[in-house]
Amino acid sequence: MLRLHDTALGRIEQFETREPGRAGIYICGSTVYGPPHIGHGRFSLVYDILRRFLEYSGIAVDHVSNVTDIDDKIINKANEEHRPPEEVAAQYEEQWWAAMAKLGCLPPSQIPHATAFIDQMVGLISELAALGSAYETSDGVYFAVSSVADYGLLAHQSLESMRAGARVEVNEEKRSPLDFALWKKAKPEEPWWPSPWGPGRPGWHTECVVMSLALLGEGFDLHGGGQDLIFPHHENERAQAVAEGRSFSRRWMHNGMVEARGGEKMSKSLGNVLLLSDLFEQIPDPRAYRLLVLQSHYRAPIEVTSTTLGDAAAALSRLDALGGRLAETGALESGQADARVKSAFVERMQDDLDTPRATAVLFDAIRQANLAFDARDGSRGAELTRSVLECFGAVGLQAKGATEIPDSVLELGRRRDEARAARDFAAADGLRAEIAALGYVVEDTAGGTRIRR
Ligand SMILES: [Zn+2]
Repeated sequence: MLRLHDTALGRIEQFETREPGRAGIYICGSTVYGPPHIGHGRFSLVYDILRRFLEYSGIAVDHVSNVTDIDDKIINKANEEHRPPEEVAAQYEEQWWAAMAKLGCLPPSQIPHATAFIDQMVGLISELAALGSAYETSDGVYFAVSSVADYGLLAHQSLESMRAGARVEVNEEKRSPLDFALWKKAKPEEPWWPSPWGPGRPGWHTECVVMSLALLGEGFDLHGGGQDLIFPHHENERAQAVAEGRSFSRRWMHNGMVEARGGEKMSKSLGNVLLLSDLFEQIPDPRAYRLLVLQSHYRAPIEVTSTTLGDAAAALSRLDALGGRLAETGALESGQADARVKSAFVERMQDDLDTPRATAVLFDAIRQANLAFDARDGSRGAELTRSVLECFGAVGLQAKGATEIPDSVLELGRRRDEARAARDFAAADGLRAEIAALGYVVEDTAGGTRIRR
């Protein structure tokens, strides 16, 4: 069973799901006011890897990830560019999904948009106000953090020490500097929705509470995001659910940040943040970024430089070359995978998604498979290679070489082997001609028909 680090507990625990065989996961998605950068790419890859591994382990995943399509940043961008906020949000959301598709991330099962849940958010804020956890000021409605006894659970700080460390507040109407906006009253020219407190829009921390509970139900299995979201975003989401007496996420998972240092080529664009579009220009194969993410522990910072990406690309070519060697044997689909490699991989993945050690197992198996092929032990080489391809496939990394020869051609090779085994040489020659006509070279080896481009 998978064990995961839980931010709230501060330790690694068994990931037991609410419902056996099914996991409900909510990942804070994007605020669409600019093009996605490599930090966005990393968190999307981390949770894509988690989801795929759960699915590989036989667990059905309800993967919900939101789009914040109304926010101060979107409004500012729209004002700067003299166009409607909806247009800004739509443009960058399109860029977001295009970039994630390039990274090979599966689209979430549900993608709630904040603007589609405003009524429910107004409902939640009204309830919080009725419970005495929220209060109105001249510019909005605020959440009183003092109404939640264990506020600071995720930040691992007491309310008292957080209050002492808080910035000096400019808004004198707030009861505590830690209190946060649930509703922001509209200023002139700003987009607004009606509410009991007048026209306005919800604060960012409210949408995820409403959407996660609406789509996944109480006590859903995991809430994730980048470590930068632990405080205040996730703390504040949780506070609202707690104040309402609802059980929120059972587990909290947070991924480490991206450090884009070194390599002048890598520091183009948005300040010193590298955009995914720049990354795609600089590395010919986006799979290299997935491999780099796999080779770093998800909770550790990751250094994205031309050197680390170059190393990942070189490692990727070893995987592709091995896939190619298996494809040449024509034994891609049939036959066993090495069970020991698979179980070693799974064991490391189950240990808080230790992808660096799990991928190390696979690269060791790649080395062994090449040795076996070199020693003309095709069946051992094929067995090891199949396990490597299956395990990398389980975390979303497909070998290219392995798919270079289409299944239909490999099938002709298999039929030729059958014909030869039955000493039907006329049929075998006919199949050889058929494969050659499709542009492939046919060789007879001890292990059977070998097909190359
Ligand atoms: Zn969120």
